[in-house]
Amino acid sequence: MKMRRPFIAANWKMNKTLSETREFIANFIPVVRDVSDIDIAIAPPFTLLRAAAEALKGTNILLSAQNVFYEEKGAYTGEISPLMVCDAGCKYVIIGHSERRQYFNETDLIVNRKIKAAKKAGLGVILCIGESLEEREAGKTFDVLLKQIEEGLNGVDLENLIIAYEPIWAIGTGKTATSEQAQEAHAYIRERLKILYGNRADESCIIYGGSVTPDNIDSLMACSDVDGALVGGASLKVDSFCRIVKFKKEK
Ligand code: PEP
Repeated sequence: MKMRRPFIAANWKMNKTLSETREFIANFIPVVRDVSDIDIAIAPPFTLLRAAAEALKGTNILLSAQNVFYEEKGAYTGEISPLMVCDAGCKYVIIGHSERRQYFNETDLIVNRKIKAAKKAGLGVILCIGESLEEREAGKTFDVLLKQIEEGLNGVDLENLIIAYEPIWAIGTGKTATSEQAQEAHAYIRERLKILYGNRADESCIIYGGSVTPDNIDSLMACSDVDGALVGGASLKVDSFCRIVKFKKEK
């Protein structure tokens, strides 16, 4: 039996309107009301955070943002600060998602600044790391993960920090990492965290993301170092996300 509390998060990316959000949450709450042994989070787009917070009030579902800027306030047109995200009712924020690294040029240095600002504001952080297909095929997976861990977490403690291993080749592609590939990467991440932080790393929640579905969640969660999931596509429908949240636990 794993000692760490599982964490399952929905990353809605740039999807859903206000009415779709209200409908999803209204249907989702009753199904997961009895789930007390795992943490569940939903990360809607910024425009929906306040309404989602209202709808989730008094439930066991946490609210997360998908991104944040690293400054507290000021002349940064179009950006959202950690304080604003807290103010909207978020407990977590996803930082360093591969789509942000790829399309918005987020470097490990920027990711590091965002993590520090988010933690300073009292937010829990879901830090995404992972290699591209070319990097995996060139045998560079561990080098990439190490750089993202060391630079992303420079000067950061592990308190309230979740690491999401998301191999880029598995995100939105329907190509899931096998349980063995996920376990190998998660064990490596934990080993590096141990080098940096000591035994505290045994308590760290390391979750997997990349085409997680109701069909593969049970085998992923059976891996000793996989502590949860960050779910994109399959989190947009209540039925599939409910089945993921209610994964079958190992005996
Ligand atoms: C993600 O958005 O973090 C993700 C893993 O997406 P998907 O589940 O669609 O691959």
